[in-house]
Amino acid sequence: MSEKYDSIIIGTGQSGPSLAVRLAQAGRKTAIVERKLFGGTCVNTGCIPTKTLVASARVAYLARRAADFGVMVDGVRVDMARVKARKDAVVRASTEGVEKWLKGTPMLTVYEGHARFEGPHAVRVGDTLLEAGEIFIDVGTRAHVPALPGLDGVEHLTNGTMLELDTLPEHLVVVGGSYIGLEFAQMYRRFGARVTVIEMGPRLIAREDEEVSAAILEILEDEGIEVRLNAKCITLARRGSSVGVGLDCEDEPRGIEGSHLLLAVGRTPNTDDLGLEKAGVKTDARGYITVDEALRTNVPGIWALGDVNGRGAFTHTSYNDYEIVAANLLDNGQRRVSDRVPAYALYIDPPLGRAGMSERDVRQDGRRALVARLPMSRVGRAKERSETQGFMKILVDASSRKILGAAILGIEGDEVIHSILDVMVADAPYTVLERAMHIHPTVSEFIPTLLGKLEPLGETAP
Ligand SMILES: Cc1cc2nc3c(=O)[nH]c(=O)nc-3n(C[C@H](O)[C@H](O)[C@H](O)COP(=O)(O)OP(=O)(O)OC[C@H]3O[C@@H](n4cnc5c(N)ncnc54)[C@H](O)[C@@H]3O)c2cc1C
Repeated sequence: MSEKYDSIIIGTGQSGPSLAVRLAQAGRKTAIVERKLFGGTCVNTGCIPTKTLVASARVAYLARRAADFGVMVDGVRVDMARVKARKDAVVRASTEGVEKWLKGTPMLTVYEGHARFEGPHAVRVGDTLLEAGEIFIDVGTRAHVPALPGLDGVEHLTNGTMLELDTLPEHLVVVGGSYIGLEFAQMYRRFGARVTVIEMGPRLIAREDEEVSAAILEILEDEGIEVRLNAKCITLARRGSSVGVGLDCEDEPRGIEGSHLLLAVGRTPNTDDLGLEKAGVKTDARGYITVDEALRTNVPGIWALGDVNGRGAFTHTSYNDYEIVAANLLDNGQRRVSDRVPAYALYIDPPLGRAGMSERDVRQDGRRALVARLPMSRVGRAKERSETQGFMKILVDASSRKILGAAILGIEGDEVIHSILDVMVADAPYTVLERAMHIHPTVSEFIPTLLGKLEPLGETAP
């Protein structure tokens, strides 16, 4: 059977559904294909479930600290089955919402199954061949499972299977000291598990500045998370019902023995089973689809959006990809990927909010810059809440006075970063923000104070 459409979208992640609905509303006969769960990674195994669990973990953390606030709580017990049920309910509402939205949109047909290219304008889903002049790929990524010695003999978890746990691991070993691994590590520590993080590099979250990595290490260690850095060679072996993790290249793994093993060591693009070769679509060496500034692939009429194009790895970058493509196609726009200011957050608690360049980026760039830092222990709001961990940092171009980048590690860091981000997007000098009157008592009211401390960036990082 063969069906003709104006547009086909593969994947219902963070750009596909919005684009499909927009195209259908513009009068294009549109098809969207999903092989698994509506809403993709963020909704089902990424942002939404993890942040829902982070919220439960924070309640457990605060309950244990209740006496610090003069509130006496008699013992804290975390019921993992209820924690999971709460998470499942939030996820279900989101995934069902996406499915209903897509299936209820006129001019849009939903196909459930695996899509594979058969040519530049043809995609097969089961028995049906879909044809269209425009095809948009939003297939996302999946957890990368590295070929660690001994992996075949042990059970391991990924971000997806972690979310199915409804009991507390006795000792969770997390391989990978970056965003996903650290969020799981802290939440499970707060649920009551012993947690060890193993990182091959010399510090956590290597893409951040060293002082950010060091502060995060301190926050996690203060909560009792064990962190093993410089694990040059990770080996695995079964030890009864536990898993042994070796860090020192010995034949017999020694050192750490955990009840559960989570592998959180990056992502793999879902392009290996998409038939891209039949369409002639090029990828890079890691399998990410190569796109231009407008997210067009090398094949006319085929675009790639979301994580799979390697131009972002976040829900907001994927959604922004949709906005770029829709504006250029339907509104005569001239939008480009490089117009956006990079921004993201790490959802440990307190969170890290990031915008623009890091200090390392600025140093590599070689421009004259100013820098300022302020510890969260100076921030009234943080003191009132007895949560003074972390610091703020901002970098400014010495000549143009434009903000180059910022990191806010501290309570509300994920929200506060937006006042800086928005000034960067407006391409305004930092003085606009420095002179703004902010509300008291908030964390944001200290951004002008931070900017008042700008000084030339020294020769070497602190
Ligand atoms: C644990 C974790 C936590 C995260 N937390 C955050 C966060 O807090 N904030 C944030 O911004 N980002 C977060 N992310 C990243 C975020 O989830 C992704 O950036 C986002 O989901 C990317 O969306 P996407 O559009 O690329 O596609 P995805 O959401 O990955 O969806 C792709 C869809 O395509 C489908 N598909 C794949 N191949 C085919 C095929 N051949 N045929 C049919 N369908 C197919 C898949 O089944 C999937 O539904 C997190 C990720 C993880 C793993």
